[in-house]
Amino acid sequence: MTLRTKGILREMGLAPLWRLRGVEEVAVEEPVAVLPEPPEASVAQAVTPVAAAPLAARPVEARTALREALVPLAPVLEAAAPSRTFSSDVASLGWDELEERIRACDACGLCKRRKQAVPGVGDRQADWLFVGEGPGAEEDERGEPFVGQAGRLLDNMLGAVDLKRGEDVYIANAVKCRPPNNRTPEAAELAACFPYLSRQIELIKPRLIVALGRPAAQALLNQEIKIGAVRGKLFSHASIPVVVTYHPAYLLRNMADKAKAWEDLCFARSTMRHLRDGE
Ligand code: URA
Repeated sequence: MTLRTKGILREMGLAPLWRLRGVEEVAVEEPVAVLPEPPEASVAQAVTPVAAAPLAARPVEARTALREALVPLAPVLEAAAPSRTFSSDVASLGWDELEERIRACDACGLCKRRKQAVPGVGDRQADWLFVGEGPGAEEDERGEPFVGQAGRLLDNMLGAVDLKRGEDVYIANAVKCRPPNNRTPEAAELAACFPYLSRQIELIKPRLIVALGRPAAQALLNQEIKIGAVRGKLFSHASIPVVVTYHPAYLLRNMADKAKAWEDLCFARSTMRHLRDGE
């Protein structure tokens, strides 16, 4: 990274973007100065390493600086996930048809034991999109994401950064049907459900996506990840910046990591400010 770029990042309050400001330093990686082309047509939609659209109006230097801070990822789930390449059918659905399709979906085994599918909830024109893992028992019962204990924590987390469910916030899950006994969704299930999430993202056009936990991050980034290694960094999905943090259910079991999740939310909030300022 050149001195000039460092200066621009500092001026934007992004310096260095992969380190959280005002908190102890986390592992610092040199960002990639020159971004490779998206790997293949079929995954370009899933892993696009530049945030071109939301930043289009930015001065060239600032765009370059933020672009340098995005960390491109190579896809590894592609082989296990052929259906990530969307049927043009789902990709053209409007909200009502999409939700109907999700409710009637039988693309993977999760449909067999669900009470109902849980498409998502919130402001369909939100700037913020939070993506969880999959419905639990209460969500399966009520048809709304994050309404159980983890949901109450998520609402508190949103409140901590002045956000509220339904107000400029949309909440969705990587899989729309409850995995039996709340087990982690398998790669094939994530892949089968991915077209729905992808279409939701296209319809909402959020400015920023927050991935809650590993399965959500892996689905969005099409990459095996470890939360500890990716939090505090900015990624992108379909040119939309993505921040990764811990899942609220994990935080309920690991209270000590709540402070890190708070840092991640502050990072997301400051990223949102920069995205809005750049308009
Ligand atoms: N956990 C999730 O990931 N999603 C929900 O909707 C509920 C719990």
